[in-house]
Amino acid sequence: MEFRLNEDQQMVRDSAREYAATHVLPGAAQRDVDREFPIVPFKKAGEYGFTGVCVPEEYDGAGLGSLELTLVLMEVNAACASTGVTLSVHNSLCLAALINAGNDDQKARYLGKLATGEMLGAYALSEAGSGSDAAALVCTARADGDEFVLEGTKLWVTSASHADMFVVFARTSQEAKRSRGITAFLVERDTPGFRVSKKEDKLGIRASSTCELVFEEVRVPAINVLGEVGHGFPIAMELLDGGRIGIAAQGVGIARASIEASARYAKERHAFGKPIAKFGAIRAKLAEMRARTDASELLTLRAAWLKDQGESHTVEASCAKLIASQNANFCAREAVQIHGGAGYLEDFPVERYMRDARITEIYEGTTEIQRMVISREVLA
Ligand SMILES: Cc1cc2nc3c(=O)[nH]c(=O)nc-3n(C[C@H](O)[C@H](O)[C@H](O)COP(=O)(O)OP(=O)(O)OC[C@H]3O[C@@H](n4cnc5c(N)ncnc54)[C@H](O)[C@@H]3O)c2cc1C
Repeated sequence: MEFRLNEDQQMVRDSAREYAATHVLPGAAQRDVDREFPIVPFKKAGEYGFTGVCVPEEYDGAGLGSLELTLVLMEVNAACASTGVTLSVHNSLCLAALINAGNDDQKARYLGKLATGEMLGAYALSEAGSGSDAAALVCTARADGDEFVLEGTKLWVTSASHADMFVVFARTSQEAKRSRGITAFLVERDTPGFRVSKKEDKLGIRASSTCELVFEEVRVPAINVLGEVGHGFPIAMELLDGGRIGIAAQGVGIARASIEASARYAKERHAFGKPIAKFGAIRAKLAEMRARTDASELLTLRAAWLKDQGESHTVEASCAKLIASQNANFCAREAVQIHGGAGYLEDFPVERYMRDARITEIYEGTTEIQRMVISREVLA
């Protein structure tokens, strides 16, 4: 067993750290205030290979694994969770859909453009009546010659304001039971009848966009079906296993940033004639934050490592997401507490961390859903 990153992995982490410090952190607070989508940091990520981390080199990707993607996402999320989720959805949900289920023609048409960051990817599963219960989705896709006609509405689609490519899940059979009647499609932004509708106002990750998608008689060529007709649901679930590692990495990033900001502030801020870092109560908080974040990080890296070995990682990804997302909330909340009144102001980053942390317990499977996945295995 080896707990140390190898030299190549250290280089990836250092490069991600440099990218985050130079191109993501500056402006992160302002983008949050302005609700400005991080398209500039996203395009810059393309120059570092971070828009196609797991894409084979023959398709212009970095040819790396899930562990390296996790290292990148931890660094980026420590600087800006909005940029972090943009890269996570692009890599773990959209690109992974093509890598896992795409055929040679689909890969040739889209992988390169997505891997270099020329195109931005999104993932559209949720609907008004189907979030946790994803198999209840009602968006339809009717076969018509060598096309499918999509009708319906998708909700809460990350990056939709700027995305060029959408992995969309729709019902192709009303007869087949629930999950068996669902098919995955690749839908390009400029397809007639397709439009990105309402953009949501949010508590956190405010620079990331979250939008409704409307499909009105949208004709998608059958060559854009991902995998087989009626087999979209397993594709969606397998992608979420990887996506959950990405959100766990987001939790680790936010927690790390909370610790760093708190340590800095605790050494500078004086009360009762000494730095607050001298008080046992503050030290105890910092120690708890550090220990729990280590645990989150190890769980997240374990899940990514298992994925790279081609082994089952569903439960491990859920464990990582469950713990890392709860810890992100714990650390961000403690960080605000350590900052006292200053922590409640926009002048310090910790109030943003606290708002951003909240979503990690909700998207890509809520805390309750992760517990369901894990307990199912415990009881099996
Ligand atoms: C900012 C943001 C970005 C998002 N991005 C995307 C995206 O890019 N693509 C996409 O497809 N979706 C996206 N989503 C949707 C997200 O994945 C869902 O919101 C999430 O899965 C929860 O679904 P829901 O909101 O319908 O909650 P519900 O499913 O209605 O759940 C409500 C509550 O009930 C609990 N609950 C539900 N079922 C059970 C159960 N069986 N046992 C115990 N408790 C249960 C839940 O845990 C939750 O606490 C995004 C959402 C947000 C807010």
